[in-house]
Amino acid sequence: MSPVLSPLQIMERLVAFPTVSRDTNLPLVDWVQAYLDSHGIVSHRWVDPDQPHKAAVFAHVGPMVEGAVVLSGHTDVVPVDGQPWDSDPFTVVERDGKYFGRGTCDMKGFDALAIWALVEAHRRGVARPLQLALSFDEEIGCTGAPPMIVEMQKHLPKGSAAIIGEPSMMGAVTGHKGGVGYRTHMVGFEVHSSLMHTGVSAIMQGARLIDWANQRNIENMAKAPGEIQALFNPPFTTCHVGMISGGTAHNITAKDCEFMMDFRVVPGEQAADWEAAYLAKVKEVEAEMQAVHPDARIEITQSFDVPALVPEEAGEAEALVRALTGDNATHVVSYGTEAGQFQAAGYSAVICGPGDIAQAHQPNEFVTVAQFNAGHAFMTRLVDRLAD
Ligand SMILES: [Zn+2]
Repeated sequence: MSPVLSPLQIMERLVAFPTVSRDTNLPLVDWVQAYLDSHGIVSHRWVDPDQPHKAAVFAHVGPMVEGAVVLSGHTDVVPVDGQPWDSDPFTVVERDGKYFGRGTCDMKGFDALAIWALVEAHRRGVARPLQLALSFDEEIGCTGAPPMIVEMQKHLPKGSAAIIGEPSMMGAVTGHKGGVGYRTHMVGFEVHSSLMHTGVSAIMQGARLIDWANQRNIENMAKAPGEIQALFNPPFTTCHVGMISGGTAHNITAKDCEFMMDFRVVPGEQAADWEAAYLAKVKEVEAEMQAVHPDARIEITQSFDVPALVPEEAGEAEALVRALTGDNATHVVSYGTEAGQFQAAGYSAVICGPGDIAQAHQPNEFVTVAQFNAGHAFMTRLVDRLAD
């Protein structure tokens, strides 16, 4: 049996794997599986058949019965390209009471704590099972978790309470908005811009869709939010275009224009309704484009779809985290996580992890030593509770 590593030692190992979402995470998964195996824990990997350089890993300790607490994290991190780091992003450096390194906050710090807790629960023996679930591709639209959750249920007794360790300063976050995004490709018809009435400018037609989003934001802002919606900042659904490209010259009607149309949907509204509204506007604009030239069109592909985490009535995961942290305040966030996906699959779900989301994705990303230690204390209390 290999030595038991501390949470910090595990985090150092995990951060050293440069698992940027576009790259492989298999060396990290290999390491996690070997470490668990060295402590007698059976783990499972699920390799994505469409991108065999990426895998999820999950494991179960304790009695082989349903009702486990699930510790859920993602293994991928955002890129460091172009960011001014003061130290190697893939080496954990302690300075001024902080652990610096890519993923220390989002969210290899939590992953390390979860791996530590799994080994601890296995060593001590627990009456209630504990599961570990580490996904991939979270940072590019939470696309790795849904197939992982399906696979977990094939191999393991189903867990009941999922703790998703995104940075929440160890508070219990019980709700987040859903997110849905559409890659929008406007295909116009090129003519000299002096004759623009005979062409179709993909850019100018795309601007109509973007302005439709502006109008929806103005309307949404003016609506009176419902009770749960009022918890969010902002308390309404937002429509956003964060990337756009198109055109070849100032005097040619653009043949192509591409952008991403994203909706962050408050609980109480349905992403499907926003999709329907957007597609109706797309259809209207497309018909007018085609009236000028039949080759003009609009191609829409959904690029992500992350369900909302809806605050639960007497949720089991929330009650557990409140008991372990003593946090009784209400917190909701406006970013999407895998918590909504666990909830959609029938788990009670809550977000609780060390660190501040403000440090996620930043150069010199860090988690404070105090937060990391609070996470360690949380895991110790969790294992105590499972052991009783
Ligand atoms: Zn994250």
